[in-house]
Amino acid sequence: MSFSEKVKRELISVLPPARHCRIAEMAALICGGGFFKDNNFTFRNDKTIAKEKFTAILQKDFDDEFNEKVIKATKSSFADDGLPICCIPKILITSSCCKRAFLRGAFLCAGSVNEPGCGNHLEIYSRSESYAEEIKSLFIDLELDLYPKTMQRKNRIVVYFKDGEQVSAVLGALSAFGAMLCFESKRVESNVNNQINRKVNFQNANMEKTINAAMEQTHYILKIERAVGLEVLPKHLEETARLRLAHPEYSLQEIGRALEVPAGKSSVNHRLKQIKAISEKY
Ligand SMILES: [Zn+2]
Repeated sequence: MSFSEKVKRELISVLPPARHCRIAEMAALICGGGFFKDNNFTFRNDKTIAKEKFTAILQKDFDDEFNEKVIKATKSSFADDGLPICCIPKILITSSCCKRAFLRGAFLCAGSVNEPGCGNHLEIYSRSESYAEEIKSLFIDLELDLYPKTMQRKNRIVVYFKDGEQVSAVLGALSAFGAMLCFESKRVESNVNNQINRKVNFQNANMEKTINAAMEQTHYILKIERAVGLEVLPKHLEETARLRLAHPEYSLQEIGRALEVPAGKSSVNHRLKQIKAISEKY
């Protein structure tokens, strides 16, 4: 089962406690999943999930008479040919709880979300530009600092979120809390992996720098040794030079610690600079 399907399965089980929210969600399911034919409402074949949620809400406490009422209230969202023109019946979604419920219904009809860890992307598509704009406004109206974007894909307008934090916040807003936790744990895991990779890269880069420096130091120490021998150096420089040759893998601190009279990194660095200056004479 894809992550999108898992999210939708979870959303089917979410029955809003308040009646006004259930009505708002039904309106979204009707707008996004159905059409009218000969004054009869039916769900389109590819909208079985919308139908399932619609039935679940109906079974909760709605009767046929209520069903009629909801359909009547949302009928303005359909053109004469029975196809949805997808304008949101605003009277049903005045409060923020109902806006969330409507968006949940809209996601059930036309939403999808990438697998956690496979790029952050959540979207709701629409055939109508105005419906897409209304969906976008509803997300913004939730005041959760959500920044939905829209794009055209073939004959559809897609309202989408690309940022991991935003995708997670949307899952929470739709009340897909199980999916949100799953998404978040993957996100944290991949952030930690990225941090580890960055650290490893940084350490590798540092190691490369250390190795290059050690090779250069070895080169000029050998130049002196071959020309006149290391014995010509003052004792403290000779000791440093011999330690460098014996331990090319040592950092400057390690060389400092290995000296007969231990010295700090900057002191070792200073000595190596002196040795380099001497080597330039040869
Ligand atoms: Zn409500």
